[in-house]
Amino acid sequence: MDKKQTSCKQCGICCTKGGAALHNSDLTLVDQGLIPRKNLVTIRKGEFAYSPVTQRVEATEREIVKLKGTGREWTCCYYDPSLRGCTIYDNRPVACGVLKCWEPKESLALVGKDLLSRMEIVRHDELLKELITEYEHICLLPDFKSLSETMLKSPKEIIADLEVLINRDIRFRDRVVAQSVKILEEELFLFGRPVFQLLQPFGLVPMQSGNKLFLKVQK
Ligand code: SF4
Ligand code: SF4
Repeated sequence: MDKKQTSCKQCGICCTKGGAALHNSDLTLVDQGLIPRKNLVTIRKGEFAYSPVTQRVEATEREIVKLKGTGREWTCCYYDPSLRGCTIYDNRPVACGVLKCWEPKESLALVGKDLLSRMEIVRHDELLKELITEYEHICLLPDFKSLSETMLKSPKEIIADLEVLINRDIRFRDRVVAQSVKILEEELFLFGRPVFQLLQPFGLVPMQSGNKLFLKVQK
């Protein structure tokens, strides 16, 4: 950050660091389809994510619904690198509107407050509410905070439990995305990223054998 900076240079760097989290005041943008659910991804409570407040990667204390990245990149899906600009500028989320990298007080004050949840977004859709509830019931996230420690104590048992979990997760997703194209498109919003992806930063790499996944410890 440039200490002499007093206004936005429109460099776009903030948009390449990841899409913004949505807050309650952004609900109308989603309701009106200005930000469709297929362009959202959910970070479930307990997942590890970068916190701009502590500037560390740590377990999230609340569910965060945010704008998707582009492919495998973190860059916000609404960022146009050729224009170095936002393609939904007039309808961008509140977190984007208050972002001033040279004076982050206002945006930091918003972090973790009044976050929009999946249930609020799908509040009028009974089927989606049921699917999210069922998923949260059958696919509880492991305790990522203590995973490295418990892995050292009893690696075989932990890996066996995690393999059960990642296969249950994938079976659930396969079943429900087959129900409709819309659920398929909105999978990352409805259920977040598959658990096997969340395990990779912990050195657990998914391998496939037949129609099952198993985990290999990366040395
Ligand atoms: S807020 Fe800062 S990082 Fe974002 S576009 Fe403006 S100058 Fe660049
Ligand atoms: S919505 Fe626009 S301003 Fe906000 S992160 Fe995405 S590209 Fe940047």
